[in-house]
Amino acid sequence: MSEVFILADFVGDKIARTTSELATYGARIGDVTAIVLAAPGKGPALASQVVNGTISKVLVMESEDFDRYGVSASAEAIAHVLSEHKPAALLITTSAFGKELAGCVAVLTDSGLITDAVDVTAELVATQIIFGGSTSVHSRVSHGSSIITLRSNSVTPDATTSSPEIINVPTVVSERAKHAEVITRQPPVAEGRPELTEAQIIVSGGRGTNGDFSPVETFADLLGAAVGASRAATDAGWYPHSYQVGQTGKTVSPQLYVACGISGAIQHRAGMQTSKTIVVINKDPDAPIFELADFGVVGDLFTVLPQASEGVRAHKS
Ligand SMILES: Cc1cc2nc3c(=O)[nH]c(=O)nc-3n(C[C@H](O)[C@H](O)[C@H](O)COP(=O)(O)OP(=O)(O)OC[C@H]3O[C@@H](n4cnc5c(N)ncnc54)[C@H](O)[C@@H]3O)c2cc1C
Repeated sequence: MSEVFILADFVGDKIARTTSELATYGARIGDVTAIVLAAPGKGPALASQVVNGTISKVLVMESEDFDRYGVSASAEAIAHVLSEHKPAALLITTSAFGKELAGCVAVLTDSGLITDAVDVTAELVATQIIFGGSTSVHSRVSHGSSIITLRSNSVTPDATTSSPEIINVPTVVSERAKHAEVITRQPPVAEGRPELTEAQIIVSGGRGTNGDFSPVETFADLLGAAVGASRAATDAGWYPHSYQVGQTGKTVSPQLYVACGISGAIQHRAGMQTSKTIVVINKDPDAPIFELADFGVVGDLFTVLPQASEGVRAHKS
């Protein structure tokens, strides 16, 4: 049976749901081994959380260089185990870090790379959705290990658990990987909401909010959702750019996406149209976003959202 590697994801010291998603994809392809990159002494605590039922082994690599030299150090360490094991594939979650890392590992191992896939088959055929969602592309790597980044929330993760074998691997980071050093980091301000790209539910606001995101945030908090924004809203300074959904923002694929006061420009759609269920609130019945809607409300978001919030509150009590 072929071997497939996945890179385990953590949010702080806690395992991320995307690890199980990658493991679920990996199990279609072969025997799943998870790679854990950790700071010195942190490996056992992180590895003990990698218990998705489809994972049979965990390779733990510890080094202070991962934090200090970022992608280049992590890529070298991963490339080292890839060159030794020659797995059929390496699966990484799509993110700015994940895509950069995947590109570096592909170069170091002379392997082919496919980024931002929304599916991968047992035969290693990856599906990408491009041109604002109008076109699906199916591609396969033709050289080396298939290095594929996969969009979060694109598969229902296997919910079983296992006790994989944990193997500590010596870490190799050369001087070449140390040419740029991370000096400081500004951690994101924790506001208690889920991370945008991992959230199961996202409530987004656009120009229609006129700068007042409070009804969007209230509704999001009642649903345990993340808050997103269109570029019109982020460019206006109404919401931080890190919450922008779309072609030049984040790509999301939640179970539920609620678009409030967003017209549905192609650049916005590009980042959210693979959402499983799309709900639209817009006062213009001709707004293009209604073409994507599973459920649509023609109305003023400042009337509709408070009513919807009240409905959720009543349902909860
Ligand atoms: C290269 C490039 C990249 C881009 N990248 C992105 C991107 O990543 N993400 C992105 O979002 N955009 C992106 N854009 C911008 C995009 O083209 C649109 O300009 C933007 O998405 C519009 O945002 P909006 O829908 O909030 O605003 P608008 O298009 O102005 O729409 C506002 C909507 O709100 C409705 N509305 C107004 N008031 C209310 C109310 N009270 N209640 C209910 N509905 C109301 C209106 O009917 C309208 O449909 C990009 C553009 C370019 C050229």
